[in-house]
Amino acid sequence: MSGARPHSGVPFADPATLPGAADDDRFMREALAAAREAAAHADVPIGAVVVRDGRVVARAHNRREVDADPTAHAELLALREAAAALGRWRLTDTALYVTVEPCTMCAGAAVLARVALVVFAAPDERAGAVCSAAELLDARWTNHRPRWRVHAAARPDAERLLTDFFATQRGPGDETPTG
Ligand code: ZN
Repeated sequence: MSGARPHSGVPFADPATLPGAADDDRFMREALAAAREAAAHADVPIGAVVVRDGRVVARAHNRREVDADPTAHAELLALREAAAALGRWRLTDTALYVTVEPCTMCAGAAVLARVALVVFAAPDERAGAVCSAAELLDARWTNHRPRWRVHAAARPDAERLLTDFFATQRGPGDETPTG
């Protein structure tokens, strides 16, 4: 899996204002911290933050179980929170950090929100929609294609949260989560 990939569409954000790879560790740590909060209500520990101008403007964790909401994935909640905080739905100057590769819904939301950059730590080979099961962020039919990269250094931490969770919460063979 490659790191940064060139954006193939129209420029939409000043790259200088977006986080660089050197910032990934700091922001992914925030996403991992958010992920840990999901365990308090027995939700799969996946976390996300939205970054603008070097600052976290939104952070969320998966709340599917506690809210009984199939769409309450960390990324979707973080994007909604960021839009509310900024007072606009276009998030063209933001980056989305998430501990697990986004699913089709969340990758689609990143496209619709016009997020400039998506960074994730652990791939989801079963349902990941960035580079595993589908390549939604690079789809030619969308009018916006976020840049994306993998922060592989945080993959062990992101995956350990999941394996620890499933070891204590559920038996083996249950459904695995998607980001
Ligand atoms: Zn999702």
